[in-house]
This record gives sequence, C-alpha cells and structure tokens, in this order.
Amino acid sequence: MELEFYGAAGQVTGSCHILTVAGRRVLLDCGLIQGSRQDEARNAEPFPFAVREVEAVVLSHAHIDHSGRLPLLVKRGFDGPIHAQNATAALAAILLDDAADLERSTVRRENRRLEEQGKRLVEPLFEKVDVNATLKQMRGHRYDESFEVVPGVRACFRDAGHIMGSAVVELELTEGEAPKTLVFSGDLGQYDTPILKDPVTPAHADLVVMESTYGDRNHRDREASLVEFGEVLQAAREEKGNVLIPAFAVGRSQEILYHLGQNYDAWGVGNWHVFLDSPLAIEASEVYWDFKHLADEEATALFRSDLTMPRLENLHLTRTPEESRVIERLEGGAIVIAGSGMCNGGRILHHLKANLHRRETRVVFTGYQPRGTFGRRLIDGDKRVRIHGEEIQVRASIHTIGGFSAHGDQADLLRWYDGFDSQPPVYLVHGDIDVSDVLRRQFVDRGVTAHLALPERRIDLAAL
Ligand code: ZN
Repeated sequence: MELEFYGAAGQVTGSCHILTVAGRRVLLDCGLIQGSRQDEARNAEPFPFAVREVEAVVLSHAHIDHSGRLPLLVKRGFDGPIHAQNATAALAAILLDDAADLERSTVRRENRRLEEQGKRLVEPLFEKVDVNATLKQMRGHRYDESFEVVPGVRACFRDAGHIMGSAVVELELTEGEAPKTLVFSGDLGQYDTPILKDPVTPAHADLVVMESTYGDRNHRDREASLVEFGEVLQAAREEKGNVLIPAFAVGRSQEILYHLGQNYDAWGVGNWHVFLDSPLAIEASEVYWDFKHLADEEATALFRSDLTMPRLENLHLTRTPEESRVIERLEGGAIVIAGSGMCNGGRILHHLKANLHRRETRVVFTGYQPRGTFGRRLIDGDKRVRIHGEEIQVRASIHTIGGFSAHGDQADLLRWYDGFDSQPPVYLVHGDIDVSDVLRRQFVDRGVTAHLALPERRIDLAAL
C-alpha cells in the first residue's frame, strides 16, 4: 500500500498522485503543468509509470491543473474509468474541450515559428478525439456516496467548496489486515463563500494529503471588497463609463454575477447592461444553474427570487464574435465580464483596446495577476500598452479588489484540518515550497506531523 507524489509536489500546478493498493494502481488527478514555456514543456514528457498499468483515475475537480492531462493519458493507452463528481464531469467536458482548442492554436503558432527557423515541428499534446474518448470514460458520482474504484479501494466525494463539483476525496484502502483511510483534499474553498457550500472534513483519516496554495496568508475581508466593488460601479455610473471585469470562466464569473444579483438594488445594477462575454463562461454558468441543488442556502434563495443569475433582467449572454463586437461600440453603461482572467488573450483584450484610453473606464481585477501577464502590467501602472499591434494610452482607472479567492486561506486550511477526529499526519501539496513551508510550521507548532510532499517521494501507507 503506497502513495507516490508526482505532480503539484513543491509547486502549484500539474496535480497527480499515484496510489498502489494490492498491486493495483490508481491515479488521483492528472493535471496540466501551467506556467513558463519551460515548465509547460514537461507536460509532453513520458509519465513516470506504465500508463496501461493504471486501472482507474479519481478526479477531485474540473480545473485544468487537475484534469488537463487526462486526454494525454487516454491518448497514451489508458482505457479505465475516470471517477468524478457529476458537476465535475459536466465542467470537465467544457474545460477539456477548450483546452484542446487552445492547444491546437498554440501549436499552430509555435509551428509557424519553427517552420521559419527550419526546425522540427511539434505535435499537440492531445486533440478533440482524445477529449471525446476521455469524456466517454468519465463515471459521475454524487457527493457522500461511496463507490468501488478497484478491489481494495473505495472512494467517497465530499464537498470541497472550491468550484461547483469540487471534492475532497476520502479513500478506504484495504490490503491485508488493517484498512487505512487516506484523505486527499483536492483544492479547498473558503468558508462562507458565495454560491458554494463550506468545505467538508471527513470524520477520520490515517493520512491527509492537503493543498497549501495560500498556506502563508489570510485573505482580505470579503465584505470590504464588496463595498469597494459597489463604489467602483457608482463612480463609473456618474462618469458614464464602462466597467470591464477580466474573469476566469469557471467560478469567478459566476461569483461576480451572483454579487450583481445579490446587490442589484444597492448597487443600481438595473441601470447597466451586463454582458457575460465568454462562450466558455456561459457554458460553465449553465452547469452552475443545472446543478443549483448543490448550492448553499443563500444562493438557493437567490436562485428562487426574480433576480436569479440566469434571469438577471439586464444580463446579455454574448456567444458569437459578432455579438461581442457590438459591445465594443458602447461608450458607457456596460459592465463586461470576459476572459481571460489575466488578460493574456481572449475577448477582454478587444474591450481593453476599445476602452483603456477613456478616463471614465473602470477595469476591475478580482483575481491574482502573476508577473509577466498583461493584467499585471496594468496593475503596475503601465501608461502605454500594445494590444494586437496597436499602441494604446492607458487613461482608465485600474482597480484590484481582493477577497474573492476560490482557495481557502491559512485560517480556512487549518479550520478544515481541525475537523478530523484526531491529528493525522499531513503531506502538503499544491503550493510553492516557501508558502507550503509556512503552513507546515503552523502544523508542527500544533504538534502535528507535517511534511512537504516532494516529487517522487513514496509513502508506505501500511506502516502508518
Ligand atoms: Zn482548483
């Protein structure tokens, strides 16, 4: 009985862990490595296990850094079941399809460059056919219903409160006499977050593998962030400008719509035209609406009221590029939610191009903008930027509103762990090493055995 860390060990992306019980191999997640070109090149490397020996995959949630290499796994010969919560299976269908599109356009661009240099061309990691095959292997499950993964391994999904369908995976492992419980946190959400329920801690664990993305800090207060959001809308309305909100398609876009619905009167949202200008975010929102039985009580009440997210009277879902172009001509009165969240591509760039030169424009960032992204340059105050080859002067006001994170902060992570009936040993994954180490020391101070999960480290689970 053994667990081996492969991806998201000492880093945030590429989540993948390998479980071996009674000679059978199961993967926990199979995510894409995201980051620099060098980092991402590692996605194409051979897996460090025989793909055909893997009998099943258990997927914690749909985000690409947890699911994005599943089509590659299938392309390389994996033909077993992929177990996921039902909403995760629905969201993965959208996100993996989008990932195949993105891969195709990236490779096409890359190959044009390589061809000019007379170098060998590259192949896409996977294509739509691989995504379709992957989706056929998905097996959907409800929360809190235990199922057999392979003989000797039973799993149960508990709500992780991170995005719709996200799960903490509780695994009952049997090999020989003493069964063991392994709990894999997946990504954990914040407590009291909009739409989603609070993360659930299983009753018991012999070992916990836990994320640590924000293990070193606590988030800003969400209430203060909402007040700030309302003030930005007010100011933009007085100056008759547009409000541009770059947002991730899954999670953040729905959360912003939720806040606009929840504060419809207080913020004067009725005076605006609200555009969700992203086919991906529209599809993801439909999954949120389809699975609204998974939402928390407040969101359920809002879904029932007249101003529900799908029927926000002035919400326009713009799917086609033609519809999107119409928005570009509006000089004021539009709230535009569009991707990408970091402004590295996508429709938001067209809106920025049309609006950044206007003083009355407000750009509102609600997600972290890493160094090197276009969003970061705006936040850092660059006054001249290039978009699609055109130089633009930045006169718009740029706002960063924190407090909307899909990940729990240090207090949330410790609170989740404190829900166990004892103090099981912890391995920390899904965090930059220095960040994870801050959380590790917090655990050690509390008398908990805590380690950083290092790549290719093997843990003998029977010895626990
Ligand atoms: Zn995630």
